[in-house]
Amino acid sequence: MLKVYRRLKKYSLHLVGIVILVFLQVISDLYLPTVMSDIINGGIMKADVGYITRQGIFMLLISGLGAACAVAASFLSAKVSLGLGRGLRNSIFERVESFSMSEFDKFGSSTLVTRTTNDIVQIQSVTVMLLMMVLRAPIMCVGGVMLAYSKDQKLTLLLLAVLPFVAVIIALVAKFVVPLFRQVQKKIDRVNLVLSENLKGIRVIRAFNREEHEKKRFDAANSDLTNTYIKVNRILALLTPLMMILMNVLMLGILWFGSIRIDAGDMDLGALVAFLQYAMQIMFSLIIMTMMFIMIPRAQAAADRVNEVLETEPTVHDLTETPTASSGRGNVEFDHVTFRYLGAEEPALRDISFHARPGETTAIIGGTGSGKSTLVNLIPRFYDVEKGHVLIDGVDVREMPQEQLRAKIGFVPQKAVLFTGSIADNLRYGRADADESEISHAAEVAQADGFISETAEGFETVLSEGGLNLSGGQKQRLAIARAIVRKPEIYVFDDSFSALDFKTDAKLRAALQKETGDATVIIVAQRVGSVMNADRIIVLDDGAVAGIGTHRELLDTCEVYREIVSSQLSQEEMA
Ligand code: ADP
Ligand code: MG
Repeated sequence: MLKVYRRLKKYSLHLVGIVILVFLQVISDLYLPTVMSDIINGGIMKADVGYITRQGIFMLLISGLGAACAVAASFLSAKVSLGLGRGLRNSIFERVESFSMSEFDKFGSSTLVTRTTNDIVQIQSVTVMLLMMVLRAPIMCVGGVMLAYSKDQKLTLLLLAVLPFVAVIIALVAKFVVPLFRQVQKKIDRVNLVLSENLKGIRVIRAFNREEHEKKRFDAANSDLTNTYIKVNRILALLTPLMMILMNVLMLGILWFGSIRIDAGDMDLGALVAFLQYAMQIMFSLIIMTMMFIMIPRAQAAADRVNEVLETEPTVHDLTETPTASSGRGNVEFDHVTFRYLGAEEPALRDISFHARPGETTAIIGGTGSGKSTLVNLIPRFYDVEKGHVLIDGVDVREMPQEQLRAKIGFVPQKAVLFTGSIADNLRYGRADADESEISHAAEVAQADGFISETAEGFETVLSEGGLNLSGGQKQRLAIARAIVRKPEIYVFDDSFSALDFKTDAKLRAALQKETGDATVIIVAQRVGSVMNADRIIVLDDGAVAGIGTHRELLDTCEVYREIVSSQLSQEEMA
C-alpha cells in the first residue's frame, strides 16, 4: 500500500487542500454542539428570542461552511484516487508490454486482467475513503473527548467505560473478517479463470458436450466466492447493531447520570445536550475507524498483487540503446544454443547450431513438441537463451536494442493473430507507412487477394475481434501478407502454411520465393512437400538437431528425416 501511495507525491497540492478542508469541516462539526448548548442556556432558558435568532443564523453559517468543505474535500479525494488508479493502470499496461514471453508464462493472462481492473478499482475506492476519513475520524474522536471533558468531567468517565467494548468489537472484526477478505480476492481470481477458460473454449465445451461439467465447475467457484462473501457480511451485519446498542446504552447512561447531575445543580441542560452530541460523534468515528480496519487489509491485498506485476523485471531487456552497426543482411546463426522454459526440468532445445543465409531458404521440420516454435521464438528474442548465442549478422541478439532487432524480422506466428480493424489496418501493422499498392501486392503474394476482393468492402472490410469472421487459412494468409508488407531482412514462418490446401500452399511458396529475393527465409513446416526444395533442412528431434542438409542428403544420412518422409510420401515421390 505504501509503495502505491508513493505515487501520490504528484498530488501533494491536492492532498494539502484535502487536509485543510477536512480540518475546517471537523472544526465546524465539533463547534456546533457548543453553539447549540449556548442557545439552550443563553436563549431558550432565558426566553431571549433575539439571542436564539442570532446564534441560530451563526449555527447555520457554520454548518453550511462544514458542508461546503465536505463537498470540496470529497471532490478532491475523488480526483486524487481516480488519478492514482489511472496512473497504476497505465504503469501495469506499460510494464506488461515490456514483459518477455517468460513473464507471460509466469503470470497467465487472466490474473493480469484482474489485477489491472478489479484490484485497482479496489485500491481506488479504499483511497477515496481513506482520504476522507483517515484524518477526520481520529481528530473527531480526540476532539470530541476533549470537548466533552470540558463540558463535564464526571460524565466523560462513562465514555471511557465504553471504549473497552469498542476495542473488543474491533479486535473480533480484525480477527475474523480480515482473513476472509484475503480469501475473497483469491476466489475472485478463480471465478475469472474459470469464466475466461469457458469463453475461450466455448467451441470445445459444446463439441464435447461438457456444458454440465463446466456449469458445475463455475458453480463451485461461484458458490465458494459467494459463501465467503456471506460469511464476511454476516460478521459485518453484526457490527452495526452491536455498535448501535453500545451507543444507545451510552446515551441512556449519559441521560440518566446527566439528569441526576442537573438535579443536583452540578450541570446545566445545554452542557448535557452538547455532551450527548459529542458522545454520538465519538461513537461514529469509532465505527468508521473499525471500517478502515477492514478496508485497509483488503486494499493491501490488491496493492500487493499490483506491486508484484510492477516489480517484475522483464528478463529480456535492452543492454544498449544505440543500434549496433552490423555488416551483412540478415545472416541468422545459432551457436550451440540451449534453452529451457522457466521452471522446466528438461531444456526444450539442446546444443543447436546452424547458419541461415540471405537469399536462401532454411526449413525446420520435426514432430510436434520437438521444439520448432521454441527455436524460431529465439530469433526475435521472445525468450533469452540459457547457453550459446543467437547471432544476427554476427551480433548477439542480446546486444542489440529489441526495436532494431525486430525491425529486421517479419514474423508469422503459428497462431495467426489479427486485430480489430480493417484488413488494410491489419496489414499496415507490418509497416505503418505502406501505401495501397504495397498492401495489395503483399496480399497478392500471400494469395489473400482472392478472398479479400470477394468481400463487399475489400481492404476496408472490418475484422471482428481477432478476425473471428475469417477461416484459419484466411487468417494465416493475412498474417503472411502483414509480414511481407514489412519487407524485412529475415522472414520467419512458424507453421504458417498448415491451414492452406496443397494448391494454395504451392502457389504461395512460389510467389514468396520471388518476393523474398535476397532475404533470409526460415520456414517451419510439418509437410515434407513444403520444405523439400529448401536450400537447407534442419531436422529437429526432441529439442536436438537430428540432421542438417538438403532433401537428398538427409534422405541418405538422417533416419529421423527418412521416417518423416516415408510417413508422408509414396516411394516414387521420394525418389
Ligand atoms: P513444436 O513447435 O515443434 O510443436 P514447441 O516448440 O511448441 O514444439 O514446444 C517444444 C516443447 O516445449 C514442448 O515439450 C512444450 O511442451 C514445451 N513448451 C512450449 N511452450 C512452452 C511454454 N510457454 N512454457 C513451457 N513449456 C513450453
Ligand atoms: Mg509449433
